[in-house]
Amino acid sequence: MLCLLRKFLMTMTIVLLLSACSLEEIEAWLFIEETPSAPIVEGEAIVSFLDVGQGDSTLIQSEKTTILVDTGRHDSDVLFHQLDHLGIEKIDLLILTHPHADHIGNADQVIYQFSPDEVWIDGNEAATRTFERLLDALIETETLVVEPRAGEVYEQGDFLIEILHPDELTGHLNNDSISTRITYGDVTFLLTGDAEQRSEERMLESGLNLKADIYKVGHHGSSTSNSRRFVEAVSPEVAIYSAEANNSYGHPHWEVVDLFEDLGIDLYGTAEHGTITIYTDGETFELYYE
Ligand SMILES: [Zn+2]
Repeated sequence: MLCLLRKFLMTMTIVLLLSACSLEEIEAWLFIEETPSAPIVEGEAIVSFLDVGQGDSTLIQSEKTTILVDTGRHDSDVLFHQLDHLGIEKIDLLILTHPHADHIGNADQVIYQFSPDEVWIDGNEAATRTFERLLDALIETETLVVEPRAGEVYEQGDFLIEILHPDELTGHLNNDSISTRITYGDVTFLLTGDAEQRSEERMLESGLNLKADIYKVGHHGSSTSNSRRFVEAVSPEVAIYSAEANNSYGHPHWEVVDLFEDLGIDLYGTAEHGTITIYTDGETFELYYE
């Protein structure tokens, strides 16, 4: 809605200016209208939980940096339509939580097209063509690859990224998901990929701060993740899951939906709400959906 308002204001500005402008100036304004307006202003961050069907992809933007966490499914290129629609030309940091095909689905093409400066992977391998294509893209482009570990803290533009998990690899692809607590000003997001309850326990035991305002619901809303103790430790205002409507896994599981309801936490999901966007000035945040 905010975007629409901005577009409307831009159009109104163009209309108002047309009458007073020379031809040269008119062309300049028309050019602005045709170019997607930069969505980010200084002092604002936008986090978009992209609707990529039964997969994951979260876009995190400020004026200084663009981060993409996961790249949607291997059998869908809807991610590129979304990134194109949002006017994304460059991704600075690509985080791949774990090598399942609903998370690294388009990673190779994202690397070729958006030239991330760094790609984070957990270090596990998958015996799939999708994973092979990712490795080929990383080698071919000579992109810097980082394997972050629990306890590390990174600064990326205006964002502080605390690594919550894994501390070491177990070889279990879901459970080794890179889990992050991402802070912009005073507003905090928590993303755990498909980490399951065993990993949530490990994060609880680690003593790391898990509190967040916005919680990306673990593992598409599966009851194998999102234990009560973990969600209580995160204690979010808003929880957002990514899943396709009527998916065969039954995500989000009713136990998880019930848990959030019981804890009084607002639950949103791409299956119901499409792409969900959080706008924040670092103090408060607003949520919009399609
Ligand atoms: Zn998944």
